[in-house]
Order: sequence, then structure tokens, then C-alpha cells
Amino acid sequence: MNLADSELVLTMLEENGYQRTENPDEAGIILVNTCIVREHAQERAITNISQFQKYKDANPDVRIGVIGCMASHTGDMVAERLPFLDWVLGPDTYRSMPGLLNTLSDRKGPVVLTEGPSDELYEELAPARRDGVNAWVVITRGCNNFCTYCVVPYARGRERYRKAEAILREIEDAVAQGFPQVTLLGQNVNSWHDDGQDFGWLLEQAARVDGVKRLRFITSHPKDLSSKLLDVLGSGSPVCPELHLPMQAGSDRILKRMGRGYTNAHYRCLVEAARKIPDLYLSTDIIVGFPGETDEDYQATEALVRWADYDDAFVYRYSERPGTAASKLEDDVPNQVKIERLTKLGKIVRESGRKKREAQIGRELEVLIETPSAKDPSEYMGRTPAGHVVVVPGPVSPGQIVPVRINELRGFTLRGTVRG
Ligand code: SAH
Ligand code: SF4
Repeated sequence: MNLADSELVLTMLEENGYQRTENPDEAGIILVNTCIVREHAQERAITNISQFQKYKDANPDVRIGVIGCMASHTGDMVAERLPFLDWVLGPDTYRSMPGLLNTLSDRKGPVVLTEGPSDELYEELAPARRDGVNAWVVITRGCNNFCTYCVVPYARGRERYRKAEAILREIEDAVAQGFPQVTLLGQNVNSWHDDGQDFGWLLEQAARVDGVKRLRFITSHPKDLSSKLLDVLGSGSPVCPELHLPMQAGSDRILKRMGRGYTNAHYRCLVEAARKIPDLYLSTDIIVGFPGETDEDYQATEALVRWADYDDAFVYRYSERPGTAASKLEDDVPNQVKIERLTKLGKIVRESGRKKREAQIGRELEVLIETPSAKDPSEYMGRTPAGHVVVVPGPVSPGQIVPVRINELRGFTLRGTVRG
């Protein structure tokens, strides 16, 4: 979502005569987009932003701004800790950016705008898309779920839905700009609706847009996943058989305390139904050490992780976020225990992930080439329709879809050769 938001902000700057640079030495404006979903992310952001002060010391005309969730939820704290900043702008306030460009800060501290219009959808603003392969298309902003551990609904405000027409038009534009892949984005895509239509319908319409070669979406909340969506997910190209279905915990007691709105049994039913889709790539998010999580609760998570046989999972230690309902509960699981649970789950997921990848060896799959490999630029990184990463030797170019024979697994990365 932050990548998509950065593209919107870039559009506004480009419309005001600015050009993008990756080199801070030549930048007149430096913006840092932030995430505060966990405390670690927040502290890392503050360290990163501090490093930009030297550009302002060298040239006082340089403007530096913090945008994103840190700006909305903890804007005043940011202004206090980083007084050299010019702007601190929350996710619904970016339309103020052009107006701020010509006002020099009076150096009493940054302009802090935490809240914008609660219905802001940034319509009529075409994102300045960055890479040439994937187009992020936002379908909802904000979140109404208030999972008890989560700061997103406070930082990003209430849920709002873009109109189907605007979304489909944006997909057509992305195709016209040459993007082979579109990823639909929302904190919970399953709650999208417009005029009686639901997300399953939207995905079906998106798949019909001429020229879309690959279609993905994140994130699906298990409480709202419909069988209609699973049908469309299994309908084949261009819909990629990839489902990110955050389970968070396996214990019903903890799921209830998290306010997730589903049970272990319900989650299992969904996974069982989804696994009927051929080649499904299933991933998840898990939090270990939520307040009150006993060893028995953790065992329920571990059992569910073993059973679900994920292709990948993001496992996090619970991080107390100010203002959330869970912050009123005692963060009583010792850090050492959190680390042990995290490490153990990480190992289980690596094993299932490795097994899933090994099963791809010997197959011939269509790989969408994304970027030159970081280690060896004569090789390229791409993805199968399901989402497994494959490295192939060049020459190939980003955006191309090539048939690849998968030969081996090195670490967590498949390697293959392009077929004539
Ligand atoms: N809207 C998405 C998630 C956004 S946050 C969804 O509901 O799936 C991404 C992930 O961060 C969450 O799925 C959760 O696993 C993790 N997360 C959120 N708040 C957290 C916290 N306070 N501590 C640890 N992990 C957290
Ligand atoms: Fe946070 Fe829950 Fe909303 Fe996801 S669905 S953003 S975890 S409150």
C-alpha cells in the first residue's frame, strides 16, 4: 500500500515540475514513506530519516518530509524527535503536498497534517508507476476490522471503496502502459463492494480486461472469504492461483482476543476448499506471543501451520501498538518465549516451503521476468503464475513471459532454463 501511495505522491510532484531521482545528493525534496505496524518498523524508520538531515545541513533549501502511517498516528512525536523535517503528512493528506511546495518552513518545526478527508480515495490521480512489470491498483483504503493488536485502522482511517468503474479503467490504463501484471490492493480486499457487487465479481471483471496477463490481489481476510472468490481464483489465467490468507493464530481463545471473527475450524474449511485449486500458492501471516498466549495456544498455531502446509509465511513477534485494544492487555509472554516460537514456526514453514518448491522441479512453467538478479546481472529473477521465484540465465527482459523448465532448487530459489 505504501508503494502505491508513493506513486500517487510522485504524480503530484511530477505535475508540479519535479522529476524523480534515486540519488539523494541531487534531490530538492526527500520523502520517506513509513509503516508503524510493528514497533521495530517505526524505530527503523526514525533511524533512516535521521540520516537525511545531512542533506539539509549541506543545503537548507532541501525539503524533507515524512509521509505514511507514522505521520498520521504519531505525527507529533515524529515532529519532536525529528525537528529538522519540513512536513509530516498522514496517508489521507497528500493532496496538500502541492500547496506546501512553495511555503518554506519557518523552522519552528515541521508542518504536521495527520488527518485528511475520511473519504479520500485519490480519484483522478493516475499513479506514477515505478517498475515496468507490476501495477498496483488500490481498490479499498483504510480498515474497519480493528483487530485488537493492529494500528492500521487508527493510522489509515475508516474503510472506503473505489467504484468498480474507476478500478477497471485504471487496469485498462495499466495494460495500455505495458504492465503485464496487476495486483489489486486493500487491507481486506474481501470487504470491497460497489452497488451490490462483491470482490469475487470485481476480480472476474478485472480478469476480462483485454491484455491483462497476470492478476493477483492482497490481502484476504478469512472472515470474509467467499466461495465465489475461490471459484474465480481457480478460474485460470490471468487470475494467478495465489492466496495470502493471514491466520494470525491457531487457538480459538487467542483468535477471539485478537477480534479476528473466525475460528480454527473455519480457517481449516477455507484452506481445504482453496487447496482444491490446482497449483495453489498459499501464504499467511502469524503473530506469536499475543498477550495471554499459553504454550497450549501456541501448540494450536503450530499444529495449524503444519496442517496448512504453506508455501510461505510471515511470522511476527507480537508488538504492542499504542492506542490499540490489545495495548490494554499485559504483554506477558517473555521475549525469549516469543523468539523460540518464532524460530520454531520459521523452521516448519521453511520445510513446507522447500517441499512445495521441490515439487516444481521438472515442470515447464510460464515465468514472468521481473528484474536482473541482484547477485549476477546476467541472470534474471521471475515468478511462476503461482508465485514461486525462479532464476533463469539471460538474455530475457523484464515484462516478458517465457516458458521455463525448472531444474533445481538452491536455498529457497528455483532455477531453470528458458525453452526455445
Ligand atoms: N490487512 C492485512 C494486514 C496488514 S498488517 C491483514 O489483515 O491481513 C500485516 C501483518 O502484520 C498482519 O497480518 C499481522 O500478522 C502483522 N501485525 C499487525 N499488527 C501487529 C502487531 N501489533 N504485532 C505483530 N504483528 C502485527
Ligand atoms: Fe489490521 Fe486487522 Fe485491518 Fe488487517 S484486517 S489491517 S490486521 S485491523
